[in-house]
Amino acid sequence: MYSQPLSKLKIGILGGGQLGWMMILEGKKYPFEFYVLGDKEKDPACKIADKCFSEEEYKQMIDSSDIITYEFEHVNENALEYAEEKEKLLPRINNVELKRERYKEKEFLRDNSFPVPRFYVAEDGDEALKILKEEFNNEGVIKTSKGGYDGKGQYFIHNDVDKYQFIKDMKCKFVVEEFVNYDFEASIIAVRSKNEFKYYTPSYNYNEKGILVYNYGPYYNDKMIEIADNLTRRLDYVGTIGIEFFVRKNQVLINEIAPRVHNTGHYTLDAASISQFEEHIRAISGLPLGSISVSKFFGMVNILGTDNLPKELLNYGKVYWYGKNEVRKRRKMGHVNIIGNDLEDVKQKIDNVIKLIYPQGYSL
Ligand code: ADP
Repeated sequence: MYSQPLSKLKIGILGGGQLGWMMILEGKKYPFEFYVLGDKEKDPACKIADKCFSEEEYKQMIDSSDIITYEFEHVNENALEYAEEKEKLLPRINNVELKRERYKEKEFLRDNSFPVPRFYVAEDGDEALKILKEEFNNEGVIKTSKGGYDGKGQYFIHNDVDKYQFIKDMKCKFVVEEFVNYDFEASIIAVRSKNEFKYYTPSYNYNEKGILVYNYGPYYNDKMIEIADNLTRRLDYVGTIGIEFFVRKNQVLINEIAPRVHNTGHYTLDAASISQFEEHIRAISGLPLGSISVSKFFGMVNILGTDNLPKELLNYGKVYWYGKNEVRKRRKMGHVNIIGNDLEDVKQKIDNVIKLIYPQGYSL
């Protein structure tokens, strides 16, 4: 047995948002350089990268990196394909391909016997409304197959289908899905490398209008762990993954998968022995994964569409501010990580933090 030094890798990240920013903050502990494909002036990850490349320079960036990863699935497709072709992309392209169209992800999960809500695929808006009527008695969710995230392109219909007749003229593909009357939403963050599988304790998540407002935990659910293990194995996955669920009694249904680090895993920066970001960097670099323990009661509140940052927030937790140039409605500007003595204490602190960030209540 002889030891090998840590290679001085050059890691390229496609996408310049906050997830890339946190990957770099955590990955900079290693002797690695980080390159980002994004907007030099505006993107949080670009501001702290060793080098930022513009969209047109993707080949140059990929050629000069040892490994390419992505912080968001809806990034430059040419760059993803070129990185895959050069055998540098992790997680591999099959994972992002599932996310290009919602129906592909849903069909993949159903065809591989993972639990999902009942759904049908419609070729256009007219067919979507017909399916809603015939299969779901006009109560369900119509989701555009392409281009949806953070709740965009989703129509929740509850016997008010008359209001949604405009969908009839839409000429794109849709997924029409049962409305799940869940008890709560939850997610698990897991990591797979070539030889190892690890996972974090799941969390309870609270979304409003399709966007995560806060989450907390721990929440224990063995089924979610088993699904994360099987799914990452089936996807031949390398890196960190987030899997979101609806929980109804003792049943879990997958809502969606995120083949990357995930908003519901921000708590791992402060409540776990190693963060989801550092584990991701280790997994894609071929390093041993760290041992994961979540020994604390934790919470996280997103700072959405405001730059109101009262310093009293520091009485309750740790503030992460992404440094985005412009505030926009619903935009993720930062988050607050909270640690508590028990779940009640965490929930109380979440409540206090929400009141401080949104003194007039939040509008999403
Ligand atoms: P996106 O892909 O835009 O992030 P999701 O499909 O994850 O959107 O949905 C966002 C949120 O909308 C979910 O977290 C949940 O709160 C709600 N939602 C989505 N689909 C359903 C459904 N079938 N039944 C009930 N609520 C749903």
